[in-house]
Amino acid sequence: MLDALFRPRGVAVIGASTKELHIGNRVIKNLIDFGYKGEIYPINPKADEIRGLKAYKSILDVPGPVDVVHMVIPAKFVPQAVEDCGKKGVKHIIINSGGFSEIGPKGAAIEKDFLERAAKYGIRIFGPNCQGIINSDPDIRAYCNFTFTYPDPGYISIVALSGGVAEVIHQGFSSMGVGTRIYASNGNACDITIPEIIRYLGDDEGTRVVVTYVEGLRDPEAFMEAATEVAAIKPVLAMKAGRTAEGAKAAASHTGGLAKEDIATDLIFQKAGILDFRDEGELINAAAAFASQPIPKGDRVGIITNTGGPAVIATDVLVAAGLKMPPLSEKTEAFLKERLYPEASVHNPVDVLATGTAEHYRACLDAMMDDDNFDCVFVNFVTPFFVDTESIAKQIVEVSKQQRKPIVCNLMTDRRQWTETVRILQEGGVPCFALPSEAARAMAAMVRYRRILDRDKGTVKNFADVDTKAARDIISQAKAAGRRMLTAAEVYGICDAYKIPTASWAVADSAEKAVKAADKIGYPVVVKADSESIVHKSDMGAVALNLENGEAVAEAIKQMQAKFDASDLQFLIQQFTPGGLEVILGAKAEPGLGHIIMFGLGGIYVEVLKDVVFNLTPVTDAEADGMLASIKGAALLDGVRGQAGVNKEQLAETIQRLSRLVSDCPEIVELDLNPVMAFEKEIRAVDARIAIE
Ligand code: ADP
Ligand code: MG
Repeated sequence: MLDALFRPRGVAVIGASTKELHIGNRVIKNLIDFGYKGEIYPINPKADEIRGLKAYKSILDVPGPVDVVHMVIPAKFVPQAVEDCGKKGVKHIIINSGGFSEIGPKGAAIEKDFLERAAKYGIRIFGPNCQGIINSDPDIRAYCNFTFTYPDPGYISIVALSGGVAEVIHQGFSSMGVGTRIYASNGNACDITIPEIIRYLGDDEGTRVVVTYVEGLRDPEAFMEAATEVAAIKPVLAMKAGRTAEGAKAAASHTGGLAKEDIATDLIFQKAGILDFRDEGELINAAAAFASQPIPKGDRVGIITNTGGPAVIATDVLVAAGLKMPPLSEKTEAFLKERLYPEASVHNPVDVLATGTAEHYRACLDAMMDDDNFDCVFVNFVTPFFVDTESIAKQIVEVSKQQRKPIVCNLMTDRRQWTETVRILQEGGVPCFALPSEAARAMAAMVRYRRILDRDKGTVKNFADVDTKAARDIISQAKAAGRRMLTAAEVYGICDAYKIPTASWAVADSAEKAVKAADKIGYPVVVKADSESIVHKSDMGAVALNLENGEAVAEAIKQMQAKFDASDLQFLIQQFTPGGLEVILGAKAEPGLGHIIMFGLGGIYVEVLKDVVFNLTPVTDAEADGMLASIKGAALLDGVRGQAGVNKEQLAETIQRLSRLVSDCPEIVELDLNPVMAFEKEIRAVDARIAIE
């Protein structure tokens, strides 16, 4: 679909300018200087030629096919120009000019106008208010962009709305001597979307790595779909900016506060299998490694070094990232003992010593490629003046080109003196980094991707025993009555409908009825005052625990009646289930995405512990298990210091039932089960709240 945009046969520039500092001139210069393989047509009613190319008065005068038109004209002229492009049979228009939806309603109206005209002719719009695209494919060499960094051909493609960040990343590759394949920065993105471009890059054989930068997601669902598809076949690296409000968010006391928009983007990345980065330098390094190296089969790394300390730093970073450092196999050890200096250290890391030669490096590289103990190889390479570093570099390149296992290289040198060594490695496609921890993180990112490829996504369980109609009816009634918070009877009714286990319960509006209900539930019981106006019940004296008999129940109710004179006051009578591990389960609606599901350590200390994890609906069985395993206090679920563990199967099932409930009832904007009392045999929610829109 987007082929004509990224591989255009002809490019015209409407608004081509004779002035050198004008975008309408720069785009033409870029196309010429970058060596564009198609035809370039400047359109300008007043000029005969621009930068030595014949200029045309109108797009309609252009003789050959035009796949892409740049528009560098004031916004008000764009709709008519689009109309002309339609008549010419243009396929894509890159609108560099601004003055559209980004400036307000007046601009938005023009945007709508040209979009309608474009749709009429089947033209797709890139931008407006954007930089444009670059394709460095040697057959194309399209620099349809006004920026100034000319990439070498490469395997990394970049897509972002923000031109500034896309360009920073692009320059990062350029300064490392790493090429870029396709570059796309589409500004307002009024028509062609980021997910569409991600899909295109997924299909593009020349793209081995996709890099994207997001500030917010317009259409989270479409993004997730496209990213999931592409991440399954090639690494997708992403960075999200605008995170600093997170601390504040984590401090709030319920799911609604604990999970805000930022977390949603992280969860999308996680669920889609995107590698997320918080540091653009780290992202650039990882992309450089993916660009030239195969994906590791596992997480076991072998280190070859000719200097001690940096290998220690690398080891720390690799191990902290979860990689393993197994010993050499006996065979490798014997092989290397014969070939290296007697003083060399033949363990992992292998230290060939500073005087180690190209033959020594090669022996280590070959041995680690052959050794089934290793999935990837980390090379530490300092360039002493007394060895032939160029020969060492050539050996590393040769082995890297075999593409058996990924190699990263921490190259410690003076790049101004050892230019030939640097050149050999760079041109040979060995990802070289200037610091041991940078190289180690790039390697860790590759292993992260391996884990994504291997992970069990699980299945969404279909619970045939849920009563969706009952839950929906309860919600409809509350909605009709204009209530946002559901009553206790409604909340626990919904839990029952979805077989979410709760302590036995009843609702009463008088002491007499309460005692009857308590007799039926069996003592001891708990009494809680229920009213829309009572939020944190225990703080307000609305919870009476461990009531042993009818008198105690009646007394508790009398006191609460005296304290709260709410017109909607009711009483929840509940089985008293003390001594469990208190956990929290929650859900929060995320527009355009479904819901965020939360699990963690709960009870009244939830704000203090902040030990909660999140996932997106629909939560699969494997994901629910993963949630249980990933809280800091996960060991508590298995039991510590002689205590019994809790019923994890039921807990995981309840997470999935909750996910199903909010998916079936999207009106639920917030749901909290806090605490759920978890015991060895069973779990029981003892406090539940539901808010609807
Ligand atoms: P709120 O969160 O509104 O203050 P809860 O209903 O969660 O009120 O009660 C506060 C605390 O009381 C809970 O965290 C739990 O420790 C305890 N609790 C409440 N209900 C029960 C119950 N049925 N059995 C045992 N403990 C309970
Ligand atoms: Mg509570």
